[in-house]
Amino acid sequence: MPKVVIVGAGPTGATLALLLARRGISVTLIEAARDFQRQFRGEGLMPSGLDALAQMGLDSLLQTVPHRPLSAWEFWLNDRRLFRADEPLGSARPCTLVSQPPLLEALVQAAQSKPGFEWMAGTAVKDLLWNAERVVGVHLANGRTVEADLVIGADGRASVIRQRAELDLKTQPKSIDVLWFKLPAPEGYEADNRFCTVVKGGRVFSLFHGAEEGKMHLAWAISPDEPTEQKDWAATFATLVPPEFVAHFRAAGDAIAPPIRLSVLVGRCPRWHRPGLLLIGDAAHPMSPVRAQGINLALRDAIAAANHLIPILKTANPSALDPTALDRALVRIQAEREPEIIQAQKLQAHEASRGEMLRRFGNLRQGLSAFSPVVGPLVKRVWIQQQQPLREGITLAQLEV
Ligand SMILES: Cc1cc2nc3c(=O)[nH]c(=O)nc-3n(C[C@H](O)[C@H](O)[C@H](O)COP(=O)(O)OP(=O)(O)OC[C@H]3O[C@@H](n4cnc5c(N)ncnc54)[C@H](O)[C@@H]3O)c2cc1C
Repeated sequence: MPKVVIVGAGPTGATLALLLARRGISVTLIEAARDFQRQFRGEGLMPSGLDALAQMGLDSLLQTVPHRPLSAWEFWLNDRRLFRADEPLGSARPCTLVSQPPLLEALVQAAQSKPGFEWMAGTAVKDLLWNAERVVGVHLANGRTVEADLVIGADGRASVIRQRAELDLKTQPKSIDVLWFKLPAPEGYEADNRFCTVVKGGRVFSLFHGAEEGKMHLAWAISPDEPTEQKDWAATFATLVPPEFVAHFRAAGDAIAPPIRLSVLVGRCPRWHRPGLLLIGDAAHPMSPVRAQGINLALRDAIAAANHLIPILKTANPSALDPTALDRALVRIQAEREPEIIQAQKLQAHEASRGEMLRRFGNLRQGLSAFSPVVGPLVKRVWIQQQQPLREGITLAQLEV
């Protein structure tokens, strides 16, 4: 049986490993971290991502993991609400916050019940193993080597696999970092979990109730060169949040944990493959956090990869594996997924630029805010229409194997 090595057990690597293992393919999943409790993992799943999990037969697994649907999206300019749009905005499912560490753990556990699946955690891949022009395995930081017929780099935006394969990454100019705060949620927020985007006082930020019980998240956009000296965040937020949250932030004080600074990298590899090697997920196309796209696209990448790879890898013995057929499949995977990635990154940039325009132009913000009862419904209609591709996906991702 041909052997696959997947590097990185984020949403991309963990789901693809499960899909391959379920079809009886021999797969080793290598993850640098010892467990999934890393400081930060995004939580927002759009209907397209939820649909991808359902296609993988993981609906019931999702029910075992902490998750919370969003009730609505709200946009606040200065102290006035421009509009509120209730989920599911015409979709079959509402956007849902899913706690990633238990989800990834459950995916790996499900794969571990399949023969031929091997799990290596706490071991970073540091290099590729080559046979002339072909990748034939990986070198681990602990000195071991793992050979494979196909190596899949699902090791995220700083991908070592991408660097070692000398696959170029074209990045967009860096425009923001995000400071991520967690604090206790106000009473009653859970029952009406609005994702509030606020533009006020030269700032753009978002707040929502996360998947975890009783936890509010606040994502604060800053420019990449802006220092983040310790300050009284609660007092700062109390001057900016929608009026209904002011008292909560005034009282929050020490309950706000120090933020995690996340640098946002957006880009795309012109080429996702070498003979014997494929990049998918953020390794091939690091995504911005705007409108929660990265996990959803990662899951859809895993579907496309499974569709193209499983029929070729299901050959009984490695000597029957046609490497050129495998390499042609890698080309097809990129060709199938690239149009959606390009379009999603464009739409994300468009959403971000509108926020930036409102942040920079106080008069525009003031005007929209003053006339929100009149312009709000119109802006809401246009916004909902524009969300459809970001919610439902842009191209077809149907699991066929
Ligand atoms: C601030 C912020 C918020 C976001 N919020 C959301 C959101 O709400 N919804 C959404 O859909 N997207 C969100 N995203 C994007 C999303 O996080 C990514 O697109 C998504 O995680 C990509 O999944 P992945 O599996 O490709 O990579 P990752 O999730 O980055 O997983 C890669 C894995 O590879 C492992 N790894 C790395 N190097 C090695 C190595 N050398 N050897 C072995 N293992 C290795 C890592 O430990 C990691 O577990 C956000 C991004 C940012 C920056």
